[in-house]
Amino acid sequence: MDLFEYQGKQYFARYDIAVSPGDVAYTVDEAVTAAEMAGYPVVVKAQVQVGGRGKAGGIKLADTPDEVRLHAGNILGMDIKGHVVKRVWVEHASDISKEYYASYSLDRAAKDHLLMLSAEGGVEIETVAVDNPDAIVLLHINPVDGISLAVARDAAVRANIDEEALDGVADMLVKLYDCFTRGDCAPAEINPLILRPDGGVHALDAKVSLDNNAAFRHPEWDEFRATEELDEREQLARQHDLQYIGLDGTVGIIANGAGLAMSTLDVVNQVGGTAANFLDIGGGANADMMAAALGVINSDENVKSILINIFGGITRGEEVAKGIVEAMSRVELRAPIVIRLDGTNAAEGREILANAGIPDSKLTSKPTMLEAARAAVALANGN
Ligand code: GDP
Ligand code: MN
Repeated sequence: MDLFEYQGKQYFARYDIAVSPGDVAYTVDEAVTAAEMAGYPVVVKAQVQVGGRGKAGGIKLADTPDEVRLHAGNILGMDIKGHVVKRVWVEHASDISKEYYASYSLDRAAKDHLLMLSAEGGVEIETVAVDNPDAIVLLHINPVDGISLAVARDAAVRANIDEEALDGVADMLVKLYDCFTRGDCAPAEINPLILRPDGGVHALDAKVSLDNNAAFRHPEWDEFRATEELDEREQLARQHDLQYIGLDGTVGIIANGAGLAMSTLDVVNQVGGTAANFLDIGGGANADMMAAALGVINSDENVKSILINIFGGITRGEEVAKGIVEAMSRVELRAPIVIRLDGTNAAEGREILANAGIPDSKLTSKPTMLEAARAAVALANGN
């Protein structure tokens, strides 16, 4: 779950990471109240889950209530890269001497945590990585050991962090690591991490994603859930407890089990197609879930064909088939289905499909995953 900047800062504060005092506002009047609380001068910041807000005009300094009104009025409702601004964060403006970059993420290949630290913050780190890769220090951290103040300070020295900021940055790195691990972030990024003229260091921005797999141990995440912005497909999927991730290809995919769903994505790619989504209906899915899954796929207008790949274990072939027939009787599917149905009660399932009177142009059955993927990709590519 991706957090808005203001939520990321609220989350940081729980882990003792210094941020500017501020408040969230949904209206111009609320923005003025928030500014009074924060103390002038303030900065009015668009809350959207996309970077480069500054360049887009979504971040403005204000010295007076009139300026807050002006900027909040302009920013609320603004469209930033397709994200409409529904709320602003108003915080006490900071004096900035230097802007740094710090983040922790999971390095799956190395099987450990990765600190990225740079004295070249404030710009997108991807740009720094291309223009000046040496300016980014990468430090792998064994999750069992964690990061000590001494190791953090050493990384800061290597990253050319200014002398007067070394202690503050090291302290920040230890706290951010605590937030990243105990707080189950995936990942956590501060850009910019600033050095102030008074020598203090604090987080001026917050980019935090929370690892949904850890939600069971974080009841406090519910408050973030309430404002989560999912696309229509993702909302529909959540209502039906389906594991769904929207992508931008043309082959809609339904499989049972995350592993099989991922393999299906791979095979679709391999034979020249692009997946419109990842969708795992889970083990033991019944007809209702299959019908719901088709409904979600059908809400995606990019879908040109639907590939259903089921290897039944606990999931039974006849339930899958009933779900498909049920869905097709309820809604007009925008795309033809190619199905590979194997495993428990597959023969019964195929028979149900064959006897349902569905024309070949709407549903074809293939014996293997590869053949099914080829057929689905051919349909999606208009062959
Ligand atoms: P982003 O563009 O979406 O990443 O938004 P940021 O929160 O990182 O802000 C972008 C830039 O705005 C920062 O790098 C700063 O240069 C500037 N900025 C943000 N807040 C303040 C502030 O309190 N004081 C000053 N002087 N500049 C700020
Ligand atoms: Mn930023």
